[in-house]
Amino acid sequence: MSSKAPSKRLITPDDINKLRDLLSSTDAHVRAPSDADYDKSISRWSSAAQKPAGVAIVPTTAQEVSIAVKYASENGIDLAVKCGGHSTAGVSSTNGGLLIDLGRMRGVDVDAEKRLLHVQGGALWMDVDAAAWKHGLATVGGTVADTGVGGLTLGGGYGHLSGGLGLVIDNTVSFTVVLANGEIKTASKHENEDLFWALNGAGQNFGVVTEFVLQAYPQKELYMGMLLFPPTPEVITKLVAIINDLFTIHQTPEGPQAKVKGQLGSLIGFAKPPPAGGETMILMTLVFNGTEEEAKPLLQPLFDLNPAVNAMRMDAYPEANKLIPQEYGLRSSMKGAAFMLPVREQFFNDCKETFEKFIDSCDDAAGSVVAWELFDPSKVAELSTGSFANRGHHLNSLVMPVWKQAENDKRCRQFARDVSNMFKEEIELQGKQASEGLEGGAGVRGKQGAVMLYGNYDQYEEISKDIFGSNYPELQKLKAKYDPTNMFDKLFAITPDKARA
Ligand SMILES: Cc1cc2nc3c(=O)[nH]c(=O)nc-3n(C[C@H](O)[C@H](O)[C@H](O)COP(=O)(O)OP(=O)(O)OC[C@H]3O[C@@H](n4cnc5c(N)ncnc54)[C@H](O)[C@@H]3O)c2cc1C
Repeated sequence: MSSKAPSKRLITPDDINKLRDLLSSTDAHVRAPSDADYDKSISRWSSAAQKPAGVAIVPTTAQEVSIAVKYASENGIDLAVKCGGHSTAGVSSTNGGLLIDLGRMRGVDVDAEKRLLHVQGGALWMDVDAAAWKHGLATVGGTVADTGVGGLTLGGGYGHLSGGLGLVIDNTVSFTVVLANGEIKTASKHENEDLFWALNGAGQNFGVVTEFVLQAYPQKELYMGMLLFPPTPEVITKLVAIINDLFTIHQTPEGPQAKVKGQLGSLIGFAKPPPAGGETMILMTLVFNGTEEEAKPLLQPLFDLNPAVNAMRMDAYPEANKLIPQEYGLRSSMKGAAFMLPVREQFFNDCKETFEKFIDSCDDAAGSVVAWELFDPSKVAELSTGSFANRGHHLNSLVMPVWKQAENDKRCRQFARDVSNMFKEEIELQGKQASEGLEGGAGVRGKQGAVMLYGNYDQYEEISKDIFGSNYPELQKLKAKYDPTNMFDKLFAITPDKARA
């Protein structure tokens, strides 16, 4: 990943005194390393992503954010912004610089009449889900409730409802953002349209978003839950055939579509979940936007495989984002890759073998996961909001080693790299084998010009041009306009192009 240039200076005791003075008449907290709750500000979902900030400012308003950003800009101080703290690459942390911890800005106001959610920049998806559900509403949001609205949205955002509604950015109506010079701006389709375009996909590079306005939709209970299967050869053959049947895109009179028609979101992969007593299992989460009766014709072949655990039920939307329990504070690293359906059975087996070999050689990493994310991507491919460059008929896979001991950092990250390379080789193989047409892969990929990388997952060796693709030159121009000294340069930094601004 392209990371921050170490040219910015670090915080001194004098800076801390000045920041305390500047913020003395506000509600913001200024947390120096010796202060209470400093540790809370610097803690991250993956403890491997934690760094010791020189000072943490914990604001409650956009004006307070503005004071902190302006101070960092005017003094050339390294700046980091934290919302949910889930980035595993350390991009919401700073080694000795100024951290803006948005953890006291988690409010969500619901305008039920207009179906709009006014979400503060530090909110977690659990805050949004709970507030909207009280009004029978929901929007596309992260599938794990304690991830942050900030990072997930600004990089695109996939959720259980993406099959029907697209990405989180496809449902973002406006942003309130503090720019590098401290100005507070609103960006929407009607105001500062260029900034709105940039924020929808490359958002972390353009400022601190203090409010997101998200479109919500009436939402009833959904059919959801988890299935666990023993990974026998017979189960694998049948399972792979079922997912290919449900999710592979076909050309239909209404355009390209999967059999599930945007109603079903799923994740399937290998894990060693506690109920299985330490054995590798195939874990599958399913979220069907409809009733059990409607889901049954589609899902019956899965139930016919007699899963070892079947925890499917009708439940409220917020519960869909709690299906995968996640522990805060372990060491973890997330690496994505793209894949095209149909999944090849041999490839599925190869991934299982690689997963098992790795876990057998590293007990510490038994909580790791390799997964395929499944939904009908037609809607995501069809929409065109913002600077997000990963639209197409492909899907995301995920390798997530989870471990405890720092001595295993290198090998766990290498495992993530190795498996993601397997996915890359697989897609190349599919591309080579494919003829033109939707089921082939290469034809669809070419048509969309997608980068085949999801920046929120791919934070290893990838560089900004890889992530933003053909949108990169325009982003450079806008960077020169809105952040000419590159204060926001932690995640896929964009070099300002002053000549074109
Ligand atoms: C367990 C887990 C589950 C996940 N599930 C999903 C999923 O379902 N769908 C999906 O699309 N992705 C998912 N992700 C990936 C997720 O999108 C990224 O990890 C994302 O960075 C998380 O955002 P955050 O606010 O929690 O992270 P942080 O670490 O707080 O921030 C990440 C980046 O965003 C910036 N940022 C955060 N908030 C703001 C703001 N308000 N203004 C400006 N910049 C900001 C930070 O500076 C940093 O660069 C998941 C990740 C994990 C670890």
